[in-house]
Amino acid sequence: MKQYHVAVIAGDGIGPEVLTEGRKVLRAVAQLAGTFSVSFTEFPWGCEYYLKTGCMMEEDGMEKLKGFDAIYLGAVGYPDVPDHVSLGGLLLKIRRGFDEYINLRPVHLLEGAPCPLKDVAREDIDMIVVRENSEGEYANVGARLYQGTPEEIALQTGVFSRRGTERVIRYAYDLARREKKTLTSISKGNALGYSMVFWDEIFREVGEDYPDVETHSYLVDAASMFFVKDPKRFEVVVTSNLFGDILTDLGAAIAGGMGLAAGANLNPERRFPSMFEPIHGSAPDIAGQGLANPLAAIWSISQMLDFWEERVWAKKILCAMERLLVEKNTLTPDLGGTARTTDVGDAVVRLLEESV
Ligand code: ATP
Ligand code: MG
Repeated sequence: MKQYHVAVIAGDGIGPEVLTEGRKVLRAVAQLAGTFSVSFTEFPWGCEYYLKTGCMMEEDGMEKLKGFDAIYLGAVGYPDVPDHVSLGGLLLKIRRGFDEYINLRPVHLLEGAPCPLKDVAREDIDMIVVRENSEGEYANVGARLYQGTPEEIALQTGVFSRRGTERVIRYAYDLARREKKTLTSISKGNALGYSMVFWDEIFREVGEDYPDVETHSYLVDAASMFFVKDPKRFEVVVTSNLFGDILTDLGAAIAGGMGLAAGANLNPERRFPSMFEPIHGSAPDIAGQGLANPLAAIWSISQMLDFWEERVWAKKILCAMERLLVEKNTLTPDLGGTARTTDVGDAVVRLLEESV
């Protein structure tokens, strides 16, 4: 029997609450499937750990994580710990250290999930965004010149390597081919004449190996408009780090909100573990009260199963979530219900059991 070992970094605020439900669901799936088992190892890292030790994770933390089949991350961040410490010392360290160069974000409106768009059919919001996750605008190369003078200048340089650009675009083509979907590249060649022109060139070059994949190209400003006005244009989307960051928040807003948005940080070659997380933050305003919606964390479990190629079970989780949303009996306050975090996890497990 296959065995999957999951490293759990529950983190701060609502992180531990929502991950408990995700683990509950994964444990139930393993039991129902009967073809694989899962084990969880917890790492108590995060802001609390930082306030005690001065570090977000143990010094040899990366070494400890190396052998796992997946990392399951809750949320990191405390109001009184600056982001560059909390995110930089944990989330970004893992993303970079394990070369998780793909950020995969489903923008898929489940039946029953709330959507702020009018005149858009539910089926029309069904895309998967592949965001470059390792370089680009977030390479953090730049300078502050002439500080304190009226001539002060801040420079921020995007770094687009051929290797880095090709690999994310190739991943997106492979995904579009596998899923038999169109592929849309979103860039900004008309204004960013070096980086984005380069991106567009590579998108065309790599495309020569995929004559069977239908492609489209959009400028990011136009794409943002069509995400709202006509989202059915988009199926698989590939874009840079910054544009992906912004577009996926827009995507989360049209596909049910923060309580439903999941993201995977993948090292597709599987040389290092990949990391799965609800994309919301630690939400200190509702932490510890059983109010957090665990569906985003549960969706990340579905993404984990998909990455392990346990696709049937990945799908079954989404179906169970969809039934929960349609039935409306067990929803947390952010979705208009009165259920508690643990009730939602229990209900998803029950629906999964009923589905087999
Ligand atoms: P960050 O600093 O990373 O943005 P955050 O703690 O501000 O983190 P967000 O993800 O930005 O959290 O969420 C903003 C607000 O949305 C939260 O304060 C909370 O009220 C609500 N929210 C976020 N996630 C959830 C969730 N899973 N369930 C219910 N409400 C949520
Ligand atoms: Mg926030």
